[in-house]
Amino acid sequence: MNLRSQTKISITYVFLLTIVQIGSLCAIYWLMTESEHPISIFSFSLIALCATLLLIIGSLAIFNQMLKTLQTNEQSLIFQSKHDLITNLPNRIYFFEYLTKRLSSVQKDPKPMALMTIGIDRFPQINQALGYQVGDRLLNHVAERLKNSITQGEFIGRLASNVFIILLPDITPDNYRKEAEAIFDIFSTPFSVYTVQIDLDILIGLSFFPQDGLEATQLIQRADLALYAARYSTERCEIYKQSKDPHHQNKLSLMSELREGITQNEFYVFYQPKVHLTKGHVEQVEALIRWEHPVKGFLSPDQFIPLAEETGHIKKLTLWLLEQSIMQCSKWHKENIPLGISINLSVKDLLNKELPSFVASLLKEYAVTPSWITLEITESAFMREPDLAIAATLKLKQLGVNLSIDDFGTGYSSLSYLKKLPVNELKIDKSFTQDIILSERVAQIVKSTIRLGQGIDMTIVAEGLHDENTLKMLKHFGCDLGQGYLFSQPLPLKEFTEWLKTSMWGIPHR
Ligand code: C2E
Ligand code: CA
Ligand code: CA
Repeated sequence: MNLRSQTKISITYVFLLTIVQIGSLCAIYWLMTESEHPISIFSFSLIALCATLLLIIGSLAIFNQMLKTLQTNEQSLIFQSKHDLITNLPNRIYFFEYLTKRLSSVQKDPKPMALMTIGIDRFPQINQALGYQVGDRLLNHVAERLKNSITQGEFIGRLASNVFIILLPDITPDNYRKEAEAIFDIFSTPFSVYTVQIDLDILIGLSFFPQDGLEATQLIQRADLALYAARYSTERCEIYKQSKDPHHQNKLSLMSELREGITQNEFYVFYQPKVHLTKGHVEQVEALIRWEHPVKGFLSPDQFIPLAEETGHIKKLTLWLLEQSIMQCSKWHKENIPLGISINLSVKDLLNKELPSFVASLLKEYAVTPSWITLEITESAFMREPDLAIAATLKLKQLGVNLSIDDFGTGYSSLSYLKKLPVNELKIDKSFTQDIILSERVAQIVKSTIRLGQGIDMTIVAEGLHDENTLKMLKHFGCDLGQGYLFSQPLPLKEFTEWLKTSMWGIPHR
């Protein structure tokens, strides 16, 4: 029974007994003044006495019961404020309090301990694909398995939606591996949620007391940083390393500066020629983005594109770059410079449903023939999200633009797979191009790739062309286009316009 109904019943009880008591007292008074009948006076006095006694006993019992209910309510409120509602595990606040207490008790005699963060990889995707109900149930199962695995002295909590944390006494950088393996083992059997079997991949991060910090905040934050680093480790498990920390701080500040950079127009387009090897002049241009950071100077895309992908800023950057490039292409054609332009798309851009209609509207606005435009998508993007990439490329292809596979050779390099895709250009990665004069084997691979690619109507571009010998060999292999420092580095518009006029690979004079 809850406190509200208990209060209602108690008020009714006290009210009724008070009425009986007042009634009896009135009756006694009336009898004494009007009839003075001794038996009646006695019986009404007895009733009044009983009512008073019942009132006192009842009130005490009610008070006691209400106190108990209040205590239970308070306890459940305390429990709720310290535990996570989905898994019933200690939440971040409670874990923090507990760790602080444990740390203060060992400060005088520091015994080693470790904090292990366990992150479920791709949990948001599971939620999206199977629904939040399944996601919550899954977390429950995960918590249960983890809880059953901990031994005396260990303490587990839920740090964030898909991150758990365990306090492990006596664990040091020398003996943590066994513990980590035991946790990986727990996840080796799939989880059965309703009727679905779910295989989970996990990541593990660790920080150690006392070497990584003496305070709870620092140790938790560092275990979390190690977990972040585990994402990029082949072992899927990392211990905190100070050397990686400044990078993280730097990354965090770069994330907010990126937003600022977009609003402050700090981005530029550089152009690099794609030269037709037999015709001997530029045919296309690749647009490459640059960020002129107010403090750090020019930043290369490798320094911020992954960050822009992570934060979702890539969408804005790509739309901006598409407009700049298509506008520039239109200008060139109006000036009788027949150059095609290539723009890089990130895998995240393929998720943007508005992209095809945006490209279509730009083509219309700037009166650009679709075949002048090539969209470059890296091979790894196709491998990472094959279905999505195919669907997106099909939509883009319908606009009449060209599609190119970038960095070919760095992924699975399956030509039979590429045959299914509506792509018409293949860019051999620079790591291959640069080795053809050094290795017969690489030369054979490149030669066969050119032949096979051309066999399925693809234009082949060799990236990273540095020297005349490589150029000669590529021409011999029948490669269509080349791109690299041999012709030109990526240049800002003004310099590139100059290059077009003056370079032997520039626009032929008519
Ligand atoms: P990518 O698409 O493979 O672009 C070619 C990269 O190789 C460019 O680096 C270019 O400067 C460099 N490069 C060209 N010729 C040579 C050469 O002869 N030798 C060597 N060693 N390198 C050469 P950049 O501009 O730093 O771009 C790096 C990557 O960043 C690009 O690789 C591309 O994947 C990505 N990227 C650049 N701009 C954009 C963009 O606007 N959007 C997206 N999503 N990605 C972009
Ligand atoms: Ca490219
Ligand atoms: Ca490339």
